[in-house]
Amino acid sequence: MTQRKFILDEKDLPTHWYNIQADLPAPLPPPIHPGTGQPIGPADLAPLFPMALIGQEVSRERWIEIPEPVREAYRIWRPTPLVRALDLERALETPARIYYKWEGTSPAGSHKPNTAIAQAYYNKMEGVRRLATETGAGQWGSALAFAARLFDLECKVYMVRVSYDQKPYRRILMETWGASVVASPSTDTSAGRAALNADPTTPGSLGLAISEAVEDAASRDDTKYSLGSVLNHVLMHQTVIGLEAKKQLQLAGEEADVIVGCVGGGSNFGGFAFPFVADKLAGRAKGMRVVAVEPMAAPSLTKGSYVYDFGDTAMTTPLLKMHTLGHSFMPPPIHAGGLRYHGMAPSVCALYDAKLIEAVAVHQNPTFDAAIQFARTEGHVPAPESAHAIRIVIDEALRCREAGEAKTIVFNLSGHGHFDLGAYERYLRRDLEDYEYPAEKVREALAGLPKVAV
Ligand SMILES: *Cc1c(COP(=O)(O)O)cnc(C)c1O
Repeated sequence: MTQRKFILDEKDLPTHWYNIQADLPAPLPPPIHPGTGQPIGPADLAPLFPMALIGQEVSRERWIEIPEPVREAYRIWRPTPLVRALDLERALETPARIYYKWEGTSPAGSHKPNTAIAQAYYNKMEGVRRLATETGAGQWGSALAFAARLFDLECKVYMVRVSYDQKPYRRILMETWGASVVASPSTDTSAGRAALNADPTTPGSLGLAISEAVEDAASRDDTKYSLGSVLNHVLMHQTVIGLEAKKQLQLAGEEADVIVGCVGGGSNFGGFAFPFVADKLAGRAKGMRVVAVEPMAAPSLTKGSYVYDFGDTAMTTPLLKMHTLGHSFMPPPIHAGGLRYHGMAPSVCALYDAKLIEAVAVHQNPTFDAAIQFARTEGHVPAPESAHAIRIVIDEALRCREAGEAKTIVFNLSGHGHFDLGAYERYLRRDLEDYEYPAEKVREALAGLPKVAV
């Protein structure tokens, strides 16, 4: 009998998050204030984030203790299983061994509550009463709505109009947990009213929804803003994924040869991969490959420039040094909504720049081919985002078959696709488009980058 699932006890839940900033070859380039051109300080961020998170954002301590109330909330569904994909291996006739870390078991259906819970907790501790955020496809909004409920905070979600209209079930999930959800642009903020004046039928955009949530938080004393990816503290909270997975691989008697995760803003990839990258940074596991998979429609690592850019379309955030397609770049409407972002987490970018990790871009039809093959062998219906990782895992396993290599491939299955069946339906009807990498549009957007002297 071959063991399928590697399960940890609740007592094996990590006690500390891993902060990769302690081990990077060089300190991360600092965020820059777009007005002054100078590095930003804690005071610039204080209207938006609680001090504990601002501290974590710049900390270079290797291990940061997870507060007990956060661990208690994690125990609702953590530790998550590490599963050997035996049926997928058999279908591929590969000598490779494939494992996935299964983050779709959380109440919101993805990895995102790992940071939502931590953020809600620190806000609560500092007397905040209400959180404001944006959501595109609805995954981050539902994670924060769930976390806010656990810590008895109000939660206001600005949901991009087109998703609000087309994806009512994510909205209803957020409302079930007690969040109030408005379509963005809304009449609740001046940014929203200006956008509605300019075009009353606008479908909205993530950049505009960010502007609304930031304005909401900055203009109220009882409210702070919450972001679901990209920032250092977000990726650090997600490292519970990789820390658990390393223990589980030990139980399985395995050492990973290839680590794979999908990247939108970089949080599930960073959370899963950084504890493994720590071994490489310490001079161990030299041959291990770590692969980030992005969509061909928004290929920020493989086709973007490594420069300072705004985090949002509306140019309200600090400037971050990252691989970017340009803040004005609007990714084509692929169904992996969580991967449609112009930039990438600065820590992921620094590792890519140092050639410690690899990146590859895939099209959405081959991605859905992989999703269907996974669903029909392993059973779980993956989120379209996660399916980007599965595509590369399958390709690697097939390469192992050709080469007769028994590699150990481990990937993060970041969420389930139960709210994405509309996309599955279009794929099954052969109605999905592969968008070519929009080189011309990216050139235009990169021409509009802010000038930074550092
Ligand atoms: C949001 C999301 C992503 C992409 O965001 P990252 O910050 O890159 O992880 C990937 N998978 C799922 C299931 C998501 O909900």
